[in-house]
Amino acid sequence: MFVANKDRYEKMIYRRLGKSGLKLPIFSFGLWLNFGEVNDYEECKNVIFEAFNNGITHFDLANNYGPPPGSAEKLFGNVLNDGLMNYRDEFIISTKAGYFMWEGPYGDWGSRKYLMASIDQSLKRLGIPYVDIFYHHRFDPNTDLRETMLALRDIVLQGKALYVGLSNYNSEQLRRAHLILDELNVPYVITQPSYSMLNRWIEKDGLLETQTELKAGTICFSVLQQGKLTNKYIGGIPEDSRAKKAYIQFLNEKDIDETLREKLIKLNEIAKKRNQSIAQMALAWAVRNPKMTSALISVSKMSQLKENLETLKNLTFTEDELNEIDQVLK
Ligand code: NDP
Repeated sequence: MFVANKDRYEKMIYRRLGKSGLKLPIFSFGLWLNFGEVNDYEECKNVIFEAFNNGITHFDLANNYGPPPGSAEKLFGNVLNDGLMNYRDEFIISTKAGYFMWEGPYGDWGSRKYLMASIDQSLKRLGIPYVDIFYHHRFDPNTDLRETMLALRDIVLQGKALYVGLSNYNSEQLRRAHLILDELNVPYVITQPSYSMLNRWIEKDGLLETQTELKAGTICFSVLQQGKLTNKYIGGIPEDSRAKKAYIQFLNEKDIDETLREKLIKLNEIAKKRNQSIAQMALAWAVRNPKMTSALISVSKMSQLKENLETLKNLTFTEDELNEIDQVLK
């Protein structure tokens, strides 16, 4: 039987999600590509237990996570059954719908038909009656925003989600959605954008400031740019890395080029002076603004989780360090 570490909450920092009653760990745990049917169940389970044992109280899923799609929710459901469920009131589960999930006209984007069916499928795979946060996964330009927001409201009213979130929406889209959600009294608490040293669109967009205005929080994803912002690609492309895995199409060998390597070598020099790896520095950098409630981490190995958790030892940056990093990324 799984018994969690007693001192787990001493190890983590928690930040409030906007003005909501929820707090999230500064590092949350994502199950996009490393926790599918193709992965070793025992290893995945141990990594998830280890995350919880270290104070990570938020696990992030979506209907299509795997591979194959749906299998990450199934895997997490099995981990719940294998002992984590005993702690259900001590962690937050989120899931999403908005990207392609099933064939035909009703398994993608933002219709009421899709969202209502998808949350039921997710709950079935997870084997639980509700998730804590349900997200619309991406803005749908062809569906009336009110239809999507009404579906989110009804999912909450049916007791299938406690809070709602919006992922991959920009500030303008968030403001429009928020007007409707506020009028409908829907507990909108969070947005989930991509953000990393190599992808800084939210800074230009003013997303963190928008969320503060909307009294909601932000959790960012792909903070390591799918593994590019680590030490491992400096000297080549390891066989067991995402860039080499043929069944994962989101990162390819051609993405690891000389320009990236040159940046990594310079970032590594800055990281070493901070007694950190590039991954640790990139994770700390992503949460340097207290308006960033949490950053998602995901790992393919236990050793990566342990390394990433060590980031907590040094989360602050001097102005000089930030300037040096900006110079490298220019
Ligand atoms: P990252 O950018 O953090 O990439 C994770 C990968 O980085 C791992 O699979 C691993 O690669 C590598 N890695 C992690 N730690 C280390 C380390 N210490 N040393 C070396 N390599 C390391 O995040 P993801 O892109 O995977 O996304 C994280 C989460 O964000 C997802 O699980 C999901 O919850 C969420 N997400 C949300 C999206 C949305 O649209 N809302 C879209 C994408 C993600 P390797 O496999 O090569 O070992």
